[in-house]
Amino acid sequence: MNDTGRPLRHVLILGGTTEARRLAAVLAAEPALRVTTSLAGRVAAPRLPAGEVRIGGFGGPDGLARWLREHAVDALIDATHPFAGTISHNAAVAAATAHVPLLALRRPGWVPGPGDDWHPAPSLEAAAAALPTFPGTRIFLTTGRMGLAHFAHLTDLWFLVRSVDAPEAPCPPRMHTLLDRGPFTLDGERALLREHRIDVLVTKDSGATATAPKLTAAREAGIPVVVVSRPAVPEGVPEVSDPAGAVSWLRKVAL
Ligand code: NAP
Repeated sequence: MNDTGRPLRHVLILGGTTEARRLAAVLAAEPALRVTTSLAGRVAAPRLPAGEVRIGGFGGPDGLARWLREHAVDALIDATHPFAGTISHNAAVAAATAHVPLLALRRPGWVPGPGDDWHPAPSLEAAAAALPTFPGTRIFLTTGRMGLAHFAHLTDLWFLVRSVDAPEAPCPPRMHTLLDRGPFTLDGERALLREHRIDVLVTKDSGATATAPKLTAAREAGIPVVVVSRPAVPEGVPEVSDPAGAVSWLRKVAL
């Protein structure tokens, strides 16, 4: 209940992103709302959002639908990373099953500018297949530790792998790991490309400002960038690009 005696409206945010944390901070200050953020539990020491937090998978779409019902969720906001395709699919199925309105919050993707040498790839597999076609063998791989298996067969290439937590096998055999988490600075990224004599950068089109300086550094150094494209938001799910858009949607459906 809030001060006016009305029951709180419960919003579940599927999180794990900066946008999800920003949204939780805004919504947690709203007296009519109870806000829970769900994290997958992939990162050992996650940055925690405002409001309530639950950690761990739901057990597929059925488990998520059950959670929505059992916790009387009034609105579901999928603010997961643009590449977290499974949970976004699960959210669409579970929201339909439990009759809970669903919104996707996705920050916009990056757009190449003059001087950029970008090579789109539809998947990590396609990015790995493209790498041997570039001149040079020193690759800066910033696609996260989870997809490293796709690059494990590239024995002739050397990889600088940057990830939040330590990668696990299978990994490329010739690899140096850098454990770090953004935001990254332009000067830092310039130095990294120079120090490791990087020939090609590989990135997902995450669209995050915290990790965008590598793209500027690559452009300045004339380094080609393989950009892995995002999976589509599930059909029929409305989409906004920032927390303000999510608040407007919430006012219509649950406040
Ligand atoms: P995914 O492949 O789409 O999801 C795999 C499984 O992880 C889901 O089926 C679900 O398990 C569980 N899961 C994912 N997100 C969850 C959440 N927010 N709360 C509870 N369970 C969740 O996801 P992923 O790509 O491994 O990403 C995992 C998390 O890391 C996401 O929350 C995402 O926002 C964050 N993240 C991902 C990336 C990336 O590049 N993929 C980058 C930065 C952050 P059940 O089926 O058991 O429910």
